[in-house]
Amino acid sequence: MECLFCDIVKGKTPSFKVYEDREFMAVFDIRPANPGHLILFPKRHVVFLSDMSDEEIGKFFSLASKLASLVVKAVEAKGYNLIYSAGAQAGQLTPHVILHIIPRFEGDEVKIFWEPKSVNEKDFERIRERILKFFEGKEEKKKERKEEKKLYKVEPRIPRYW
Ligand SMILES: [Zn+2]
Repeated sequence: MECLFCDIVKGKTPSFKVYEDREFMAVFDIRPANPGHLILFPKRHVVFLSDMSDEEIGKFFSLASKLASLVVKAVEAKGYNLIYSAGAQAGQLTPHVILHIIPRFEGDEVKIFWEPKSVNEKDFERIRERILKFFEGKEEKKKERKEEKKLYKVEPRIPRYW
């Protein structure tokens, strides 16, 4: 199986390493959007975030937050974007979880952009209903859910769709 990021971990593909611990590695993107553009990834081969444990995901994003703050200081940026893409339609180019950490500068002309689509409250309602259904996976909980209006109280466990 060929995987660019597994090859980077094994040293088969050269990279400019910035950070490494037992589980994760961060390298400079060789085609950066801006100076300091990092790619953070788990060292074990995982295709989607949903293939990682909650604990792993926690460590991954905690590390992303730290590295982002450090790189912002290092290149004297004004902010940053974290970009994760799941699935080819979303722009995932390699079968390995990667997170882009892109420092941002005033007027840097990096484009992360979409044209807003129109929605109505019925769409929101319908989609929320489906999300909650998948969260809990059980029809008998429907009653409780109607009383439970606040999303953040629902146990977040999203199944894999792709
Ligand atoms: Zn891999």
